[in-house]
Amino acid sequence: MSKNWRPATRLVHGGTLRSQYGETSEAIFMTQGFVYESSEAAEARFKGEDDGFIYARYGSPTNDMFEKRMCLLEGAEEARATASGMAAVAAAILCQLRAGDHIVAARALFGSCRWVVETLAPKYGIECTLVDGRHLENWEKAIRPNTRVMFLESPTNPTLEVIDIAGVARLANQVGAKLVVDNVFATPLFQKPLELGAHVVVYSATKHIDGQGRCLGGVVLSSKEWIDEEFQDYFRHTGPAMSPFNAWTLLKAVETLPLRVRQQTQSAAKIADFLAEQGQVARVVYPGRADHPQADIIAKQMTGGSTLVAFELKGGKAAAFALQNALRIVEISNNLGDSKSLITHPATTTHKNLTDEARAELGISGGTVRLSCGIEDTDDLLEDFAQALRKVPA
Ligand SMILES: *Cc1c(COP(=O)(O)O)cnc(C)c1O
Repeated sequence: MSKNWRPATRLVHGGTLRSQYGETSEAIFMTQGFVYESSEAAEARFKGEDDGFIYARYGSPTNDMFEKRMCLLEGAEEARATASGMAAVAAAILCQLRAGDHIVAARALFGSCRWVVETLAPKYGIECTLVDGRHLENWEKAIRPNTRVMFLESPTNPTLEVIDIAGVARLANQVGAKLVVDNVFATPLFQKPLELGAHVVVYSATKHIDGQGRCLGGVVLSSKEWIDEEFQDYFRHTGPAMSPFNAWTLLKAVETLPLRVRQQTQSAAKIADFLAEQGQVARVVYPGRADHPQADIIAKQMTGGSTLVAFELKGGKAAAFALQNALRIVEISNNLGDSKSLITHPATTTHKNLTDEARAELGISGGTVRLSCGIEDTDDLLEDFAQALRKVPA
């Protein structure tokens, strides 16, 4: 591994632990435990005098390869793979909090993330303030002396609003809080929260990292100090570890992550531009377009527009349903980041549990649709939208 290797090279070669058989493709180590050469070797391992494995809930070779590869991509010192994205989010937030602490989080969060900070944390005496994260003054006003964690995702689901990560990180540092960033929508290729000042990055590896709809997974990345001091014990003793089989699937998946995300992003950009010209479309939100409301922040913190497009149809829910039903290649699904293009109507699916008021605050109306571009041929996708829109009244 050379330090100068670029991401695409690191994602094919980084972190490989080759066995005595010299296999080309990385091996899967489906084992719960490990044996020791001698009693003395076991004693040394438990004293931490050598860094071998002890038990798969703590760490194992296939997971280690995946974690090292993710560190190389993210520019993090340490990572831990978890069974799902939510296991990563919940562990990264809760491991560092106790009763009496306070969280400030953006209100535009993936539904389960919002439940963790808004509903679960208060059960343990941890208060949470949700803010419109687009404006730094809202974060500043919400901070209290006992604020320990700030949490955001950017771009947000489903309306692709953007939050100034460096600005929120500065505010967190003023009170000694840790900023945790859910970087799923930007992908590790287009946004580097740790470089922007965030303390912890979390992923649902279920999305672009697998990218082929096969398994759940999550990753938590940070400094060695934070993982050792805040995260390690929580992770080892509450057991959110990823299965080695899923770690292997994801390890192989990251080899093609840049190829897939590049193709998905190219399609997203072209489809966003196409949709913006259509009479049935009221508004398109795409972080790669100059007319994104926060294009200035995007220029500072993202190097690509992402694989998702949000748009609003003038004809409301009826038009959104008609469009989704008329698409032939693009499938209706609440998932995202997949090699198959997927479309969602948030108001009736992923965001149906919010109150009308909360949905309105997030900019979700009956006409709002979220598209996740797959790796199909861009022209086929454009043709699919063109034929489907002909079935949507202007
Ligand atoms: C999907 C998702 C999660 C949760 O991940 P799972 O792997 O489904 O547990 C968290 N945050 C964001 C932004 C997501 O898209």
